[in-house]
Amino acid sequence: MTNRITVLSETVINRIAAGEVVERPVSVVKELVENSIDADATSVQVDIEAGGRKLIRVRDDGTGMSRDDAFLALERHATSKLRTEQDLVGVATMGFRGEALASIASVSRLRLLTSDGLDPAGTEVVIEGGVLRKSEYVGLGRGTVVEVRNLFFNVTVRRKFLKAHATEAGHIHEFITKLALAFPGIAFMYRENGKLKVDAPRVNSTLERVHTLYSRDVRDNLMDVEFSSGDARLYGYVARPPYGRSTMRSVQTFVNGRPVRDKLINGAITRALSNLMERGRYPLAVLFLELPPEQVDVNVHPQKAEVRFVNPQQIFNVILDGVHQALTGAPFNPPPGPRERILPERPTTPVARHVQDRRPPVQTDSAQSRAPAPAPPPTSEPPPPEPARGESPRGLEEPSNRFSSLTFLGALPGSFVVLHSENELIVMDHHAAHERVLFEDLKQCDRTGGGFETQDLLIPQVLEFSVREARALALHLDLLKNAGFRVEEFGEKDFVVKGVPVWLGTVDLEEFFEALVEVMLDTGVKGDPHRGREEVLKNMACRAAVKETKAMHPEEMRALLRDLDRVGSIDVCPHGRPITVRYPLSEIRRKMGRR
Ligand code: ADP
Ligand code: MG
Repeated sequence: MTNRITVLSETVINRIAAGEVVERPVSVVKELVENSIDADATSVQVDIEAGGRKLIRVRDDGTGMSRDDAFLALERHATSKLRTEQDLVGVATMGFRGEALASIASVSRLRLLTSDGLDPAGTEVVIEGGVLRKSEYVGLGRGTVVEVRNLFFNVTVRRKFLKAHATEAGHIHEFITKLALAFPGIAFMYRENGKLKVDAPRVNSTLERVHTLYSRDVRDNLMDVEFSSGDARLYGYVARPPYGRSTMRSVQTFVNGRPVRDKLINGAITRALSNLMERGRYPLAVLFLELPPEQVDVNVHPQKAEVRFVNPQQIFNVILDGVHQALTGAPFNPPPGPRERILPERPTTPVARHVQDRRPPVQTDSAQSRAPAPAPPPTSEPPPPEPARGESPRGLEEPSNRFSSLTFLGALPGSFVVLHSENELIVMDHHAAHERVLFEDLKQCDRTGGGFETQDLLIPQVLEFSVREARALALHLDLLKNAGFRVEEFGEKDFVVKGVPVWLGTVDLEEFFEALVEVMLDTGVKGDPHRGREEVLKNMACRAAVKETKAMHPEEMRALLRDLDRVGSIDVCPHGRPITVRYPLSEIRRKMGRR
């Protein structure tokens, strides 16, 4: 009989661990740079060649290691960051498993140069495929250099899965950018094949870092995010739509300073932008979430990019409200009170004019929090407002005059008007602008249970539907009521329209409702009733907004600009298309050949 069970050798174990820790070149960069940060470096230099496959070198000016520690560091589960199980709760350092260096050394040729500045000489160690090849004394100032060559030279399978060099380099570049944002107090330098890609000196604030890393164009469009709820705080920047990118990679998120890519967080951001971005476009954002360490588990995945929250709903809402408030001046589901305070004394636009002053009672408290995706079924009452959560309701205290400060110059053919500010010539689509105002007012009234003035029809109009259509419409009767319609069921699948909101103007009711029902059927099947409701309101707003051919009088135009500011100075229509196109006067001056 032969024994079949053997204990795996250290080398084999390391290689298995490497499979988890070291997925691709960026994982190596991540582990090495995080070690540098943990070692209190104030300057980190990263060099890569051939997408990291030929070379990854990370140099830091951190604490360095003594000779003994240098050897220990290369052993599995050797770490200076964790001593007891107790330490696992609320780990403040980046790495703590003590397996990164050993793993990387098992699948590459790793050269470690380090000095703690105390020993008379520094240490050089070379390990190839987990086997010690060289150990020397070297002259070196305090700090550490880790050089990783020929990554995965002994792991054919892994090598095959690597993408093109440019792709791998792209990931590394993105990661360095991310860390540079998280640690403005550390200088970062990053080179690809000798070419300098990131050069970020030490600065005092994230904003200064943003200035180094992003172009002027981006910076001009960034809005401050600052929002707190309970013990969670969200801060950072988000670009004002329509400014955006074509992938979600332009969203940089951090939890307690640690870069993460998390589904829940991204979902909340996407939701906050659902009526602000065109489909397929993504925001540009740098967001930091701070919460007590015991509220978050970052140890879900060895790569530590994912996190688990103790209270995911609270986190979803903080992000949803915080991002929405930064872009519109109000949380996603604001309590009804404060927003109404900024309604003008005498509403002026076709829409606002018909919003009656019927303030719903302000609810003061509600412990209930909203669920991430599902919203209340269409037949129930609108969700109770949560207690005011924002610490900085900027938009509420000082309404923006982004639009109302503009000067109206005249109309262009179509739905365009020309305006200007001190430094821009602006073309505005007044149809799109009206759509936004009407949509925001409809949303507000749907939330607070009505407020639009209704005009009774002289002759009620009966509308006929199929059974399926009738069912969809019946589910939205409260929405119609909140929007100012008086519609009642009439027999099994017919409805009678007795009154319409004044904002509607003259439309063919049959056509109007046909289109609405189509949206209700369309969105109903997608499953999120809250989203479905918004789609219906969007459709209403679009069909009732000022017709494209209508000429705008200066007085109407001024009212529209005030209304735009009243609903949050948002620069896109509910479909995410821009309301304005802006031409900097400086650019015009330049084109005119003037200085
Ligand atoms: P971990 O970071 O999880 O502890 P690593 O394998 O990444 O595990 O590193 C092992 C140990 O080596 C660390 O705990 C640290 O003491 C030391 N070390 C690694 N990199 C550096 C560095 N750049 N500067 C100083 N010490 C380092
Ligand atoms: Mg580490």
